[in-house]
Amino acid sequence: MTDFTMIKGDDGVAVITWDIAGKSMNVLSLEGLAEIDALIDDALADEAVKGIVITSGKDSFAGGMDLNVIAKMKDMAGDNPAQGLFDGIMRMHGVLRKIELAGMDPKTKKGGKPIAAALPGTALGIGLELPLSTHRIFAADNPKAKIGLPEIMVGIFPGAGGTTRLTRKLGAMTASPFLLEGKMSEPKKAKMAGIIDEVVEDPLTAAKDWVLNAKDADLVKPWDAKGYKMPGGAPYHPAGFMTFVGASAMVNGKTKGVYPAAKAMLSAVYEGAMVDFDTALKIEARWFTNVLMNPSSGAMIRSLFINKEALEKGANRPDVPDQRVKKVGVLGAGMMGAGIALVSAQAGMQVVLIDQKQEAADRGKAYAEAYMDKGIARKKATPEKKEQILSLITATTDYAALADADLIIEAVFEDPKVKAEVTAAVEAVIPEDCIFASNTSTLPISMLAKASKRPEQFIGIHFFSPVERMALVEIIKGKQTGDRAVAKALDYVRQIRKTPIVVNDARFFYANRCIIPYINEGIRMVAEGIAPALIENAAKMVGMPLGPLQLVDETSIDLGAKIARATKAGMGDAYPDGAVDEVIFWMEGQGRLGRKSNAGFYDYDDKGKRTGLSAAVAAQYPQAEVQPDLIEVQHRLLFVQSLEAVRALEEGVLEDIREGDVGAILGWGFAPWSGGPFSWLDIIGSPYAAERCDALAEKHGARFACPPLLRDMSNKSQSFYGRFGAKANAA
Ligand code: NAD
Repeated sequence: MTDFTMIKGDDGVAVITWDIAGKSMNVLSLEGLAEIDALIDDALADEAVKGIVITSGKDSFAGGMDLNVIAKMKDMAGDNPAQGLFDGIMRMHGVLRKIELAGMDPKTKKGGKPIAAALPGTALGIGLELPLSTHRIFAADNPKAKIGLPEIMVGIFPGAGGTTRLTRKLGAMTASPFLLEGKMSEPKKAKMAGIIDEVVEDPLTAAKDWVLNAKDADLVKPWDAKGYKMPGGAPYHPAGFMTFVGASAMVNGKTKGVYPAAKAMLSAVYEGAMVDFDTALKIEARWFTNVLMNPSSGAMIRSLFINKEALEKGANRPDVPDQRVKKVGVLGAGMMGAGIALVSAQAGMQVVLIDQKQEAADRGKAYAEAYMDKGIARKKATPEKKEQILSLITATTDYAALADADLIIEAVFEDPKVKAEVTAAVEAVIPEDCIFASNTSTLPISMLAKASKRPEQFIGIHFFSPVERMALVEIIKGKQTGDRAVAKALDYVRQIRKTPIVVNDARFFYANRCIIPYINEGIRMVAEGIAPALIENAAKMVGMPLGPLQLVDETSIDLGAKIARATKAGMGDAYPDGAVDEVIFWMEGQGRLGRKSNAGFYDYDDKGKRTGLSAAVAAQYPQAEVQPDLIEVQHRLLFVQSLEAVRALEEGVLEDIREGDVGAILGWGFAPWSGGPFSWLDIIGSPYAAERCDALAEKHGARFACPPLLRDMSNKSQSFYGRFGAKANAA
């Protein structure tokens, strides 16, 4: 395997080209690191070589470290994984530091060989850390290229010197959006920020020219020169001090202390700023080791990168020929239908958007227009793009327009009768092989399929609201759904660039099945007299994006009441949520329907801004004198969701724990730091999880009863990923 090749030119410039065969983008593996190390040694030792340019054979430079390698590094590190990781990271520092010092005399700083980076396009993660170790970075003027260090988004931080180098190059304050938020910029903006040095038409030629004309002084990095002072001030400088106070507050405010990477990175920056550069690298390596040793980072990488990508690439797709969609019919141009039409047209499909009245269909199309106008105002879209997207959407009441559709997505009222009528009417005009999907959120697919003449071609494609923003799509197989329908749904989701999970048909499918108990647990606690502020803060401090009470305010109390009535009717005596209903129905009676009525568990001002927790709710449900401790509330909120996920697995609703974890994070924001409910249970360990279930069940009821699967795993000290690996089969 050769990821890097070197050609020594007659002009004295050695060009090292990174070009991994068979991949659309370069990623760094440990073998690749060894290769470039050897090539640098060779070029530095060769007297005929005057300078070196590192570039790529692709239209991008590199996407980063191969995250699969990071995930494996710990396992490969032997008996003392922390030491093994630290040594591995220090080896990486060694290679990049060698590039930076380029053979110069350590005392006089003379005699080094100039090394430049020529970036044809995107340079992310280690794909930027490597250029940052060179003496000058040239990038092509490619507005589509992204330059940045997005490691924080998957729960780690730039650990190959990027943290230390960028802080010293820009100062802690200027570097913070790039490090702490993973901000990525196009080359011109990256130059303006001072991350790269030049934006040119032909970076390779410009880099070669520079290398041939560079002077000794051009090779000395500011931090290797005498008298270096960090831009904006080191921690004990008055301005620097303020930066760190602010950054520390910001990190804790944003992460609530549950994401280890941001805090570790800030520590690396703070401590590194007070010592010489090589010691700072060592400190960075120690903090990076610390983060890689934290189970949260491994779980985040696994769910948010490796498994998410595997699902998007069709890990669970049946072996059926390409089912890409050309023309989609969307039935019902309401909130969901309008969004589905928009994302389908954005993916280049022809869309027929149907409603009962022409005005309603037009309103649905106008949603796409308004969305594109907003994009144009924000310079994210162009008038041409808007025209192109609108020209793909036909808004009509005429079912005949569906005659050549290859996929139908139904999003009419949540009423089995209406849905059955629409199904029959549509099947009368669509081609025999057209797949029919329902976007229902509560009605069983197998029941809806009864209205279809072709139940093997009937499936659920469940979007989340707002469609254009939510990344997850839940695909639901009815009892008779065939493989081609599943493949069609997966190919469609891939076209619209969202992440699919495939589940079997059961009440509320997967996502709503887990999120409703979360909301209900919050409401139940209100009825018990637990302070709403404790409930909401406990949820956020354990990493949920919204507390359960805020969430139900957003989705609306009357929807909750409607679902409660329907569920009660469906379940009869087995219905367990009477205590919740009492609160919900009282709220409904008071007209406190949530954000939409400007009153719910929170109060709102005239502009719809939340002003605080409601005094009216507090008066109706007075706080108990003794409040539970934080952990108890957090465990109730996390277990109630996670146990539902385990039951979904036991019952065969979920067939793959990867889908359970990825779906939970993308679908309803289940504490992303944990990697999802199964990863969370693995982090706390099945014996402790079972013990907590027993205690919670005794105190709060059977909904916390330990599922037999978890009990069995606890008896055997097993983990979910250990027992099921990639594919699960619990049933
Ligand atoms: P909505 O009331 O906003 O839209 C429904 C639309 O369907 C209306 O425009 C209505 O005129 C149209 N319609 C009704 N009968 C029709 C018929 N016979 N022929 C053509 N059009 C007809 O509802 P919505 O929120 O968009 O929900 C639609 C579906 O999506 C429901 O099944 C719902 O459960 C599901 N869903 C909703 C959400 C959500 O958050 N709102 C999320 C996921 C799924």
